[in-house]
Amino acid sequence: MVIAAHPDDADFGPAATAARWIDDGAQGWLVCCTSGDQGGEDPDLDPVELGAVREREQRAAAAIVGYAGVTFLHGPDGALANDLALREHLVREIRTFRPDAVLATDPETLFYPGGGVNHADHRAAGLAAVDASYPAARNPMAFPWLAKGGLDAHRVRRLYLFWSNHPNVWVDVESTFERKVDALRAHASQIRDVDALMERVRAWAAEEGERIGVAAAESLRLVVIDDDEDEGPAVHDDVSAVGTIDRASTGTSGAS
Ligand SMILES: [Zn+2]
Repeated sequence: MVIAAHPDDADFGPAATAARWIDDGAQGWLVCCTSGDQGGEDPDLDPVELGAVREREQRAAAAIVGYAGVTFLHGPDGALANDLALREHLVREIRTFRPDAVLATDPETLFYPGGGVNHADHRAAGLAAVDASYPAARNPMAFPWLAKGGLDAHRVRRLYLFWSNHPNVWVDVESTFERKVDALRAHASQIRDVDALMERVRAWAAEEGERIGVAAAESLRLVVIDDDEDEGPAVHDDVSAVGTIDRASTGTSGAS
């Protein structure tokens, strides 16, 4: 399960990793906390209409990646807060789709090493995803009406945080990188110069790929909550072998 603040975050983030794990047999589900209704530069634009456009773009992109579906939580773009309401929404999603792994923005990323500030919504969504994954989703006494209503507690075993300043796994995405590119193209309302953007995205993937000697890779920060022998060793080396990583999503019970 990928949890993101805005439509397009998941596609700039771990889309190629998600596509690869889905190809390997995982079920994927995408949760967008907002519909990106502030994602424009025209104050006269109708935010409701923009949100609807961006939901359509995200659904098209999600189909390219191969997710089984998308949930939009309709949180406020630009004002997302890691509050109990958002946590409850995310616990509902987690308990419904029961993922082994949750992929989310690294909430500890405030600044990027090359310059730039990480959007407050990305930090809030990341922290909300972490807090929902542990301990709330696994604790039947958290939001007890959920368990009483039939949404049983669920243990998320791994977090994979993207846009992290502390990546510790690199996933070979050579086979699915073009799907990420196509998914990004689906976000037409957000892209001004598509060629320049794709050049940047290719350069990032190539740079990450150099770390493990492949043409394209995505980096993630793995946090193991529950170790599990059937998923192979939890690797925390600076550069980890790809084969030990992609099994994480292919457990029998579910989604990533
Ligand atoms: Zn975003």
